[in-house]
Amino acid sequence: MGLIVQKFGGSSVKNAERIFNVAKIVTDTYSAGNDVIVVVSAQGDTTDDLLDKAHEISARPSKRELDVLLSAGEQISSSLLAMAIEKMGYNAVSLTGWQAGFLTDRTHSNARIRRIETERLRSEIEKRKIVIVAGFQGINRNDDISTLGRGGSDTSAVAIAAAMKADICQIYTDVDGVYTADPRIVKSAIKLEEITYDEMLELSSLGAQVLHNRSVEMAKKFDIKLEVLSSLTKAPGTMVKEVTKMEKMLVKGIARDDHIVKFTIKNLQNVPGIAFKIFSAIAGKKINVDIIVQTAANSANLMDMSFTTHEENAELAQEVLGNLLPGFGNGVYIERDDDLSKVSVVGSGMQTNAGIAARMFETLADNQININTISTSEIKISVLIARVDSTKAVVALHDSLIQ
Ligand code: ADP
Ligand code: ASP
Ligand code: MG
Repeated sequence: MGLIVQKFGGSSVKNAERIFNVAKIVTDTYSAGNDVIVVVSAQGDTTDDLLDKAHEISARPSKRELDVLLSAGEQISSSLLAMAIEKMGYNAVSLTGWQAGFLTDRTHSNARIRRIETERLRSEIEKRKIVIVAGFQGINRNDDISTLGRGGSDTSAVAIAAAMKADICQIYTDVDGVYTADPRIVKSAIKLEEITYDEMLELSSLGAQVLHNRSVEMAKKFDIKLEVLSSLTKAPGTMVKEVTKMEKMLVKGIARDDHIVKFTIKNLQNVPGIAFKIFSAIAGKKINVDIIVQTAANSANLMDMSFTTHEENAELAQEVLGNLLPGFGNGVYIERDDDLSKVSVVGSGMQTNAGIAARMFETLADNQININTISTSEIKISVLIARVDSTKAVVALHDSLIQ
């Protein structure tokens, strides 16, 4: 008996039948004596469909208007779910992001939650209502609607769990837990009973879509018990927590990200301040960069600087670099590679076990997969490889490192 936050993704609410399935899960939880706050995503492919509609009107719609448009997807599913729950004889109320008190920063399309004003949520719970919140959205200081980035409803749910001190946050999706690799790509992927926040954060930041990386970051920060499970089966899910007992497993998962672009600025003078110049200009446009590599200078004291970023930032990054170019002198030019993927091996056991990297590179070599770039941290090794090889790489690495 307590307060439970349940989040349902797009496939869990994609049609009327699925909405009634969710209503049953929610009302069963409520009938067992719990208070329930539900967070929903837009139905099925609604967000992509809305984006297509916007692009029928304009190639570069303003981010403010996109946020108004996209937030509608979650509002539709929240009201439909509330209607289904009411039809089943329970009291429910749907709330948009701003009605639920989500205050964000002023970024559009990738806003961060600053805080949640919980009065409305609390008052509806006190009235014993099942509260349904439209995920992925909030309002900023200008009273404009903002959205939290693709996959952001997970973060809405964890934020509510933190603000309301919920007992658990359950993320219902179309797979019954977190696997050692995307089960759609690797048929032999293994479901994990549990995984640490740090490992999950790496996996989701490196492309495992199953949880929004900021939701994991927030769950860790506020020590929220997070469970990933399916809305279609009753199988136990995966617990995401601080410490796990599965220390035997050196590698917890393989992730891949096909949505990256790599930029290289060639022939830069190797003098103080160059990296600062480039990355402060990039950061000034709020572009997140990932793997950064600076080569050693050659005999002419020239070096190359590379970085990767999400494909949605590519045009803007190219523009920023193009503007910097004249300041770098003759012979400096930009290369852009749109055909790479990042494939990563994640596991906290790697910290104390040499040999994983060698095995990873051996597997890639055995499969004739060339490595473009390598990047490591304590609990992960990432490589950039040709995108055409990414599925083969994930399957082969899973075979050699996990089974
Ligand atoms: P939702 O719409 O419920 O938010 P998502 O599509 O965002 O669902 O995330 C679920 C999907 O994440 C799964 O269908 C699966 O293909 C993918 N996925 C990628 N990596 C993993 C992994 N390691 N474990 C489980 N699912 C994964
Ligand atoms: N509907 C949004 C998306 O498709 C947010 C979410 O599903 O979490 O990205
Ligand atoms: Mg998702």
